Amino acid sequence: MSLRKITHPVMIGNVKVGGGAPIVVQSMTNTDTVNITATVNQIIELSTAGSEIVRITVNSEEAAKAVAEIRNQLDKKGYDVPIVGDFHFNGHKLLEKYPDCAAALDKYRINPGNVGRGRSRDPQFQQMVEFACKYDKPVRIGVNGGSLDQAVFTRLLDENRALANPEPLPAVTRKAIVLSALESAAKAEEIGLSKNKIILSCKISNVQELISIYQDLSSRCDYALHLGLTEAGMGSKGIVSSSAALSVLMQQGIGDTIRISLTPEPGASRTQEVIVGQEILQTMGFRSFTPMVISCPGCGRTTSDYFQKLAMDIQSYLRDQMPIWRTQYPGVETMEVAVMGCVVNGPGESKSANIGISLPGTGETPVAPVYEDGEKTVTLKGDRIAEEFQGIVQRYIET
Ligand code: SF4
Repeated sequence: MSLRKITHPVMIGNVKVGGGAPIVVQSMTNTDTVNITATVNQIIELSTAGSEIVRITVNSEEAAKAVAEIRNQLDKKGYDVPIVGDFHFNGHKLLEKYPDCAAALDKYRINPGNVGRGRSRDPQFQQMVEFACKYDKPVRIGVNGGSLDQAVFTRLLDENRALANPEPLPAVTRKAIVLSALESAAKAEEIGLSKNKIILSCKISNVQELISIYQDLSSRCDYALHLGLTEAGMGSKGIVSSSAALSVLMQQGIGDTIRISLTPEPGASRTQEVIVGQEILQTMGFRSFTPMVISCPGCGRTTSDYFQKLAMDIQSYLRDQMPIWRTQYPGVETMEVAVMGCVVNGPGESKSANIGISLPGTGETPVAPVYEDGEKTVTLKGDRIAEEFQGIVQRYIET
């Protein structure tokens, strides 16, 4: 593992990003911001799942009008999670017309490719940064491959054509993405923002391109960096591609905050992206959020899905308890719980974990030994093994 690159620290509300702070997990709502109740509920859901910063879309006058009330309701309910406003073409107008919105947000996200076109781009970017200075807010200059600043891209294309050996188009695109972020950050500093108020991101949907872009970006600046593979996709594809890209970068010491952009299946909880973000950080050994369940894949020695169900139930139970346990039992998040399908690897894994159970496989005596801190403490049998094991886990944590 490379040493973590120390960037300039940026405070987003009460959350520190960069400067060596633990890598922060953030997420974004998908509710219509105008719907205050739905947005507040989803922010609470994301925050409870462990999202340390939540971004909301501020795309219209009605959305801007709703922001202060969203903050107000969160405060009343006791949620101090920082809220970021995601602005595009009309952000400068909304921040000017709705000072309550500008004041209520903890950070503004500016996309340099979407703040205006042609000659209007620079003054609109300038206005947004001036509002950030006025309200003492940090900004994320968030470049996206899908909305790349065409002025920067065209300039680099022209320069590339003039070379004796022009580079291929993807290389020019990667350079333009990085340059758009760096030039915008330099402009923001000229306007008056300090490095402690600027976070950069350069998102794209291709894993290898993303890694290359962030390596370049990180080598050329010391701003705090927000990592994310944009449009990562659905299901396992989105999870795997995000994990692959972000893990490589973080292993190289790059990245101060992450967002996993999954396409949720219809009706699925938005919290999945938070859980995936936490699990990437935890499995990489950067942070701990929830006791880790170690379970085997199962094979011909397991005749039913009983142990998989037990492993899933224990994982859900641990995750559900964490909002309370996090404060009651500091350190509980570093625990390991093993749920194994037979005696081949069961006792070994169970002894290595803080607490583990080895369920009976085909042909084995129908008993399930439980191990605590490497020692067998009890053998469960009968049809209440799952409930009894959950009780043992709870007692272990409490004591
Ligand atoms: Fe199969 Fe047992 Fe290994 Fe699980 S621990 S995969 S049940 S052999």
